[in-house]
Amino acid sequence: MIAAPAPETPLQALRRHIREMTRSCPAKRSYGCETAVRSAARYAIQSGRQNCPARLWVYPCASCRGWHMTKRANRDPAVTAAQIREGIA
Ligand SMILES: [Zn+2]
Repeated sequence: MIAAPAPETPLQALRRHIREMTRSCPAKRSYGCETAVRSAARYAIQSGRQNCPARLWVYPCASCRGWHMTKRANRDPAVTAAQIREGIA
């Protein structure tokens, strides 16, 4: 016999709801590591979808602990159609 999980209390449900609502991921997609997100960004640029600019940047997300791509420039090397780290490799 497997014991049924304890039902969620109203307080637990409220806390879970708040946690989900305050998750501040601006992008829907999250990638597991920098290499993965850079590869995906380059692919997005090459495919020319979703009004993709010529350059994208990536950053680690404190919310979901994954990586996102952004159109906003940051200090890290940009991703371009030719390079996943512009100016480096
Ligand atoms: Zn995130």
